[in-house]
Amino acid sequence: MILLGGALLLAGAVVPGTCPSPRLDVSLSRAAAKQGAIVVVTLQSDVALASATADFEGRAAVLESGASPKTFRGLVGVDLEGKTGPASLKIETEGLCGDRHEAAGRIDVRSGKFSVETLKVAPDYVEPPESELARIHEDQEKVARVWKTGDAQRRWSGPFQLPVDAPVRENSFGSRRVLNGEPRSPHSGIDLAAHAGQDVDAPAPGRVALAEDLYFSGGTVILDHGAGLFTSYFHLSRIDVKVGDVVAGGDRIGAVGATGRATGPHLHWSAKIDGARINPLGLLHLPAWPVEAQK
Ligand SMILES: [Zn+2]
Repeated sequence: MILLGGALLLAGAVVPGTCPSPRLDVSLSRAAAKQGAIVVVTLQSDVALASATADFEGRAAVLESGASPKTFRGLVGVDLEGKTGPASLKIETEGLCGDRHEAAGRIDVRSGKFSVETLKVAPDYVEPPESELARIHEDQEKVARVWKTGDAQRRWSGPFQLPVDAPVRENSFGSRRVLNGEPRSPHSGIDLAAHAGQDVDAPAPGRVALAEDLYFSGGTVILDHGAGLFTSYFHLSRIDVKVGDVVAGGDRIGAVGATGRATGPHLHWSAKIDGARINPLGLLHLPAWPVEAQK
């Protein structure tokens, strides 16, 4: 009742009980998506809406409207270990009367067919020495806190750029790693074959959410791009930003190195959307924001 009252005040002329049920049309940039893919969700309503959210596999995404309150768009990430097969996408809308409605979409999740990689690294990084365990635990907590403190406001407005001018190592995303004979969690980013000291630039506008040396990932920067989207940069030899800095696309954030658990100089680039680990190369093909009204 309180919500309805609030909505009435905001909506002005709307009289309770007179809000028509919206006709909702959900369209997806792809009906079948591999593990690690980004799906762009567009919602079209025949009446103006106050807000819309999407839920995919328990992860909530805000759908944002453009100039028209009838067209909304958001990003959904398919986690690199997401269950394969048909998965439902639930859309919930709130009308100007505070009335709630639902719509659904379906994403057919396909296997990413990731490779298995066998690597030999310094023994300390597979089984860290006892003396480093407290630090590693602290690192993990710091990173976990970053994921909880994202800005709701989207900062980017179009496709991302590569953070470094270098080729992508083939099959680097999602590969299952066996380090010194022990299976490890999948590689959640891509490796760019850059040389030591090469500039690493922000691929899009963002806010620096973490900038420090961590045990496994070495010199690490995490950028919060808002609206649930984060990108991470590992193994940096130098960090040129500090937490809280707001960067524009193309601003230098550090230099390529081989710090932490790295077999040689390269840039590890990874991304998360609402907690789903996605292939950051998908960000190079984002549509322009805000969404334009559809006919
Ligand atoms: Zn990597």
